[in-house]
Amino acid sequence: MTRQIYLDNAATTAMVPEAVEAMLPFFTKAYGNPSSLYELGQSAKSALTDARERVAHHLNANPADIYFTGGGTESDNWALKATMEAYASKGKHLITSSIEHHAIMHTAEWLEKQGYEVTKLPVDEQGLVSPADLKAALRPDTTLVSIIMANNEIGTIQPISELAAIAHAGGALFHTDAVQALTHIPVDVQALGVDMLSASGHKFHGPKGVGLLYIRKGLKTKSFIHGGAQERKRRAGTENVPGIIGLVAALDWSMERFDERATHALALRDHLIERVLAEVEHVRLNGDRLLRLPNNANFSFQFVEGESLLLTLEQKGILASSGSACASGSLDPSHVLLAIGLPHEIAHGSLRLSLGEETTLDDIDYTVEAIKGVVTMLRAMSPLYEDFLQGKKPISAVH
Ligand SMILES: *Cc1c(COP(=O)(O)O)cnc(C)c1O
Repeated sequence: MTRQIYLDNAATTAMVPEAVEAMLPFFTKAYGNPSSLYELGQSAKSALTDARERVAHHLNANPADIYFTGGGTESDNWALKATMEAYASKGKHLITSSIEHHAIMHTAEWLEKQGYEVTKLPVDEQGLVSPADLKAALRPDTTLVSIIMANNEIGTIQPISELAAIAHAGGALFHTDAVQALTHIPVDVQALGVDMLSASGHKFHGPKGVGLLYIRKGLKTKSFIHGGAQERKRRAGTENVPGIIGLVAALDWSMERFDERATHALALRDHLIERVLAEVEHVRLNGDRLLRLPNNANFSFQFVEGESLLLTLEQKGILASSGSACASGSLDPSHVLLAIGLPHEIAHGSLRLSLGEETTLDDIDYTVEAIKGVVTMLRAMSPLYEDFLQGKKPISAVH
C-alpha cells in the first residue's frame, strides 16, 4: 500500500477519537431535545450548557456570548449580514481585506448587491493588512470591520488587537474570522478586543457542520435563522447536540496540548521551509516568514502548474492543496496570491502544505524529496522553462 501523508489540515482535520466517543451517547441514549422539559431533554440541555461554558473558558469569553452555528461559513455570514442590517441606520459601510476566506468575501459581495458599500483593504507582499490603511478607510458611516485572523492559504497572522482598537476608535465594530487561528495561536476575545469571532469544529479535529460565533454582550445583532427560541432566540433550530459536544471535546483535546502541538508543528514547518528554499530553484515562500501559523507552508514554484504538482504528489501519497480555485470550476489563481502581488503564472504554481499532530520529520523529508523530483520532472516538460533556460525569457522576481 502506498504511504499516505495528509498535509491538508487547513482544509479539514481528522476527528480525534476522544471527540467521536464524546458524541456517541448523544445519538442513541441522550438523544433528547434540549427544549423538552422531561429529564431526557433536560440532560441534553445541561450537556449544552456545559459545552458552552467550556468553549467560553477557552476563548476567555462569557458563556452567554457563545452561539453555536452550522460551521464557520454560517458564523461569517451571520456576523456580516445581521450586523450590517442591525446597524444600517448608523451606516452601510463595511471594511474587510483582500485576503478573506470566501465565506467573508462572497458575503461582502452579496451585501454590496443589497446596497451596502464595501472597502477591501489591500495587503503587503507578506499578506499583512496595514493599521494605517484601516485608519484611513474608516468613515462615520463605517459599521463593521472584518479581518481574517490567520489566513487559510498563506498562514499570515494579522495584528488583530491593534486593528480592532483602530476600528473602535473610529466608531466601528470589529469581527474576525478565527477559523484557522483557534487552537494554533492564542485566541482570547478580551485580549484581542473583538466584538465577534468565528470558529469551526472541523478545523481542530471536531466534526464538520458545527461552528460557533462569539458575539459580545450588548451588540445589536439580529436573529440569523428564524424559528424557535434556541440560542437565545438568535439562531433557531434544534441544537446539533452531538456536533456541539464533539466540537467542545476536540477543542478541549487541542487546547490541553496547545504548547506541544505548536512546538511540534513549528519545528517541522521550519525544517520544510528551509529545505525547500535551499534545495529547489526558482521557488518562493508565500506569506510572512515569522508571523504565520505554526502548521502552514505555502510555496510558489516557477514554471510549474500547481494542479499537475498536486496530482503527481498524490500519486506519491501526499495530500496537499494548490492555489487555484479549481473547486469553482475555474483555474483562476487564488485571490489571496494575487493580492500579495504574485503574477498569474507564479500564483498558478502554488502549493499549500498544512501539517498535523501526526506529521513526522520523516514525512517532511519524504515530501521534500517528492517535491524536488516532481518539480524537476514538470519543468522538464515545460516550454516556458525551456525558453528560460535558453535565455529567451527573463525570470520574474521570485525569492
Ligand atoms: C474553513 C474555513 C471557513 C469555513 O468554515 P466551514 O466550517 O468549513 O464552513 C471559514 N473561514 C476560514 C478561514 C476557513 O479556513
